[in-house]
Amino acid sequence: MSTTGILALQGGFFKHQEMVEKLGEKTLLIKKPEQLEFCDRLIIPGGESTTLTKLFDIYDFREPLINFGKTRPVMGTCAGLILLSSKVEDSRVKQLNLIDIEAERNAYGSQVESFSADIYADFLKKEYKCIFIRAPKIKECSENVKILMSYEGNPIAVEQGRILALTFHPELTQDPSIHEYFLKL
Ligand code: GLN
Repeated sequence: MSTTGILALQGGFFKHQEMVEKLGEKTLLIKKPEQLEFCDRLIIPGGESTTLTKLFDIYDFREPLINFGKTRPVMGTCAGLILLSSKVEDSRVKQLNLIDIEAERNAYGSQVESFSADIYADFLKKEYKCIFIRAPKIKECSENVKILMSYEGNPIAVEQGRILALTFHPELTQDPSIHEYFLKL
């Protein structure tokens, strides 16, 4: 059986763990870089990209995460997407440059502007309830990046090779189909 690592430094890692385990998969909460070698794929959850940047530095996660993402699947949600990106206009965030997109933090406004929307996902062939919490927007996308879902003309789910990045929170729904998709990448 394969193991899905879930980065557990800060943010919403437990809900991702619950969802992956409901799908019958083994999980490992990652608190130290050495644990990455036991994982077949990794989820970087939502949280705060500035705080996660500091924690990556403190615990020496940056290089191990970059190397992991070059060979194994990684899904980043919300702050996770910001960290996977190749460009962010915020000097407090040091992104990992694993997917060729530019992210804009808090692009819909503050916490009170958080919202959900039912959006048709062609790659799942159904509607998916997308929950946006102080969500980023994807400002630019290189042509190597596949857009899987958009909302009001903005990409919200994108994929490049084995890297999957979402501006919303699939772990907060009851629908495991995006996690299921990721497990097959
Ligand atoms: N606004 C947060 C950030 O910039 C992301 C919010 C989230 O992950 N729910 O990192």
